[in-house]
Amino acid sequence: AKERGGGGRLEIYAAEMHATVVGRLELQTELRQALADGAFLLEYQPVVDLENSQVTAVEALVRWRRGEELEPPETFIGPAEESGLIVPLGEWILREACAKVAFWRASDWDIDLSVNLSVKQILSTGFVETVSGVLAETGLPAEVLTLEVDEEVLLENPGESVERLAELRRLGIRLAIDDFGMGYASLAHLRELRVDAIKIDPSFIRDLGTDGTVTLLTHTIIRLGQDLGMRIIAEGIERPEQLEQLRSMGCGHGQGFLVARPMVAEGVEALLGGSSIPL
Ligand code: C2E
Ligand code: MG
Ligand code: MG
Ligand code: MG
Repeated sequence: AKERGGGGRLEIYAAEMHATVVGRLELQTELRQALADGAFLLEYQPVVDLENSQVTAVEALVRWRRGEELEPPETFIGPAEESGLIVPLGEWILREACAKVAFWRASDWDIDLSVNLSVKQILSTGFVETVSGVLAETGLPAEVLTLEVDEEVLLENPGESVERLAELRRLGIRLAIDDFGMGYASLAHLRELRVDAIKIDPSFIRDLGTDGTVTLLTHTIIRLGQDLGMRIIAEGIERPEQLEQLRSMGCGHGQGFLVARPMVAEGVEALLGGSSIPL
């Protein structure tokens, strides 16, 4: 009976695993179809200069229109990476965002663009050519584009990733480390990966002012960035006290629900007239 019980448990595991595998395959088929159908869309979250509250950039954030639902990236970026779909999807995201921002700039709005990259894209064949091709097609100057990577790029084939990113940087594109402070040995990574900007992880901003260590660490990251000539962007600003504290620490830029939520292109265009947000 004991053995049968064990076997039964195994069968249950096998059935669950089968369900998971089937579910994942179905999701991947659905995602591939979604890309073909134009079911992805971009939202843009403003980034402001904390000194004068001017919108200096937008970060493109992908969503999936799945029936009535608008799926957040957490539900599909992982599976898209697993299946390799992230490569064509990422290219679509880049082209769409660059075209939109080139259009806004042509309407005389001086604004920069940030786009998130997955390490799978960086390591894909011809990635640097893809990026320079998109810039040429859309007419967006390389200096306007920041590509955001997280510390994960230094885990999978770091030599190759660092080389590709350096090539992009030689084109004039800027690089930012996303979610800075979350990964392992963040400071050491700044030696290998030359970046122009650091985005401080929201977990730091959340505990600003209430956790002494976090407050000190945040201040240290800001000063370090200044000393290294990097742009510092605080992510996840939700409360006025956090904003005030960041300003007093000399943090250059900020992003978060208090400043502005991610919004569709039309929402950004509504800001076009007066590009300063009352803060
Ligand atoms: P991320 O690049 O760190 O993007 C910031 C995330 O924080 C966004 O979530 C944004 O909506 C959210 N956020 C901004 N301000 C606040 C705030 O004040 N409070 C809180 N609680 N959240 C805030 P989102 O759009 O769901 O994106 C999640 C992650 O998915 C991104 O993190 C990024 O890693 C990934 N992602 C998004 N778009 C893309 C993309 O186009 N390509 C790739 N490869 N990854 C993407
Ligand atoms: Mg990001
Ligand atoms: Mg990230
Ligand atoms: Mg982040």
